[in-house]
Amino acid sequence: MTTTAVDQRRRLLTQIPGPRSRALQARKLASVSAGVGTALPVYIERAGGGVLVDVDGNHLIDFGSGIAVTTVGNSAPRVVEGVRQQVADFTHTCFMVTPYEEYVAVCEKLAELTPGTHEKRSALFNSGSEAVENAVKIARAFTGRSALVAFDHAYHGRTNLTMALTAKNMPYKQGFGPFVSEVYRMPMAYPYRWPGDPERVAQEAFEALAAQVHAQVGEQNVAAVIIEPIQGEGGFIVPPPGWLPRVADWCRQHGILLVADEIQTGFCRTGEWFACDHESVVPDLITTAKGIAGGLPLAAVTGRADVMDAVHAGGLGGTYGGNPVACAAALGAIETMEVENLRGRAREIEALMTPRLRTLAEKFSVIGDVRGRGAMLAVELVTAGGDRTPDAALAAAVNKHCHSEGLVTLTAGTHGNVLRFLPPLDISDDLLHEGLDILEGAFLSSV
Ligand SMILES: *Cc1c(COP(=O)(O)O)cnc(C)c1O
Repeated sequence: MTTTAVDQRRRLLTQIPGPRSRALQARKLASVSAGVGTALPVYIERAGGGVLVDVDGNHLIDFGSGIAVTTVGNSAPRVVEGVRQQVADFTHTCFMVTPYEEYVAVCEKLAELTPGTHEKRSALFNSGSEAVENAVKIARAFTGRSALVAFDHAYHGRTNLTMALTAKNMPYKQGFGPFVSEVYRMPMAYPYRWPGDPERVAQEAFEALAAQVHAQVGEQNVAAVIIEPIQGEGGFIVPPPGWLPRVADWCRQHGILLVADEIQTGFCRTGEWFACDHESVVPDLITTAKGIAGGLPLAAVTGRADVMDAVHAGGLGGTYGGNPVACAAALGAIETMEVENLRGRAREIEALMTPRLRTLAEKFSVIGDVRGRGAMLAVELVTAGGDRTPDAALAAAVNKHCHSEGLVTLTAGTHGNVLRFLPPLDISDDLLHEGLDILEGAFLSSV
């Protein structure tokens, strides 16, 4: 396990947020757009392992990883070393002008680690949204088709094209239209809200997709089906086994490209390198970001060489895409995942947390569902009536209570009624248990 300078213990010295954070928040409100919200206005000074240290000296337990980004931990030693060296050597040339090895090395790693043994190519970008946009450009150029299929509860980003792919109106889309055309939304195989045994749900949801695309769009017009193999912002929805392979087969039959958006699920988060690996699904294109570079902004599209090479030279790129410092960080993060077997660590975290969350669900009937894979786990909260009505107010109350006790948790879900847990993979078992104790206390005082 990584050793870090940050003391791996929760410690609360002030109210959360403390006086210094409150002073900074006042400056924020006077200088930063109100459109940029903050879930927990605690200003961070240092972080490492499973702990965030704020400007008032409080040590908070991190169950968020900055939204699944610091999978290898904050300031992971190999990331810091790689960045330090690179930033001293050179910070930018623009890969499209005079290239450098680090970019190529990241693409080689992506070819090696992403699903499938076929020949692959990659292109690097700055953000997840940008990767999804480029996957669409590539899919359209290769297929000569324009229609895109996305799913209920999907999240693919906040740029104009990716807002159209994203399902949830508030806060992501409200007031920001018009959106691009040729995006078709299909039902998601959502076990908790699609009654029946998992095998039947997989079949029914697949049939609904195939029938609706046939009737409403025409398979021959579809460039790509874009899917998060486990949905992230939508509430950590894990489709039943068999659904994704069916979708992949159907795409292949119709010359539709399968784009797996693994921006949140990728890089060991779910206990495999990629969530598609759990069902041996090989997508045509895969988008990655978040966990790839230990906190530095980097994103990628990786896919079949024939598809990726179908774009004319100069058709893909951007000034900063694959910045050398971000690439050095990615190489450090990926090496950390390999050397420290972080896939195994994600599975250990699942084995530690899931039984405790299930015990909690037995105690509190408002926890309707416990789900997720690896270190990507969630509980869905519903009202007590037994009819599975989403309870966003309860999720907000539990979340707030956790924050006040120094545990950083996040909400998710189309209805805002999901609490999600994304600890960094170098967090200690003790901190995981302590975080779960706090969560239990939050339910005791909120229900
Ligand atoms: C976060 C996320 C995105 C968008 O990434 P940004 O870097 O925020 O633009 C896209 N898809 C999924 C699945 C995500 O979780």
